[in-house]
Amino acid sequence: MNLILLGPPGAGKGTQAKRLQDRYGIVQISTGDMLRGEVAAGTEIGREAKAVMEAGKLVSDDILIRMLGARITRPDCARGFILDGFPRTVPQAAALDRLLAEKALKLDAVAELRVDDGALVDRIAGRYTCAKCGAGYHDSFQKPKREGVCDTCGASEFIRRADDNRATVIARLEAYHRQTAPILPHYAAQGKLRTVDGMAEIDEVSRQLNAILDPIAA
Ligand code: ADP
Ligand code: ADP
Ligand code: ZN
Repeated sequence: MNLILLGPPGAGKGTQAKRLQDRYGIVQISTGDMLRGEVAAGTEIGREAKAVMEAGKLVSDDILIRMLGARITRPDCARGFILDGFPRTVPQAAALDRLLAEKALKLDAVAELRVDDGALVDRIAGRYTCAKCGAGYHDSFQKPKREGVCDTCGASEFIRRADDNRATVIARLEAYHRQTAPILPHYAAQGKLRTVDGMAEIDEVSRQLNAILDPIAA
């Protein structure tokens, strides 16, 4: 099963992608995580992307399309994938259509997590992740069971993203509405778009996604 999770920054794409990964045995492909990996490794792509990401703008379509093309042909994608953070522009969506056609792959569904802008600022400002395993948390909405200790791996070191601050969030939301939201009609026209209430609690969002995807996975 091949899926796209769509939604503004902080909508819960990463949180839900990790759960879908476990439930359906398909891999999460987060272009944001891939880019942060390039920045951390100091590669040429990383050097180009760093300032753009910190400003809350989108990295060039060229880089993203090349990165994703290489990623979805890796063997771990054989059972399927969940795209988290791609496509984010109309040219990226068109490139993905071509890429899938070339590889004779089918896109099964596009799930949109719809969340009000007002809620996103608080979600992003409170977001942090486990430094060791990447499990996601939130200061108010998703605390670890034992304070300061990761539920998943027991580590006690956490990280916050450089771009998860209130000033940058405004630019990222603007980029979403101006550059990413226009791809929704593209998938609606293909009959693949399913919208979920991303304002609901995390478990309820999962239930809504499972209700849509269980029949497709079966
Ligand atoms: P995205 O990948 O779309 O940017 P995340 O999955 O990282 O979003 O979620 C952003 C923050 O909001 C995280 O700290 C996460 O714990 C929290 N979060 C995710 N889904 C919900 C939800 N349905 N309700 C409240 N908080 C949520
Ligand atoms: P979020 O879901 O919180 O917006 P991501 O981790 O998906 O964050 O992305 C972080 C940043 O990485 C984006 O603000 C953007 O600069 C860059 N990025 C990630 N994916 C793409 C993409 N498909 N196209 C362009 N830039 C991207
Ligand atoms: Zn952990």
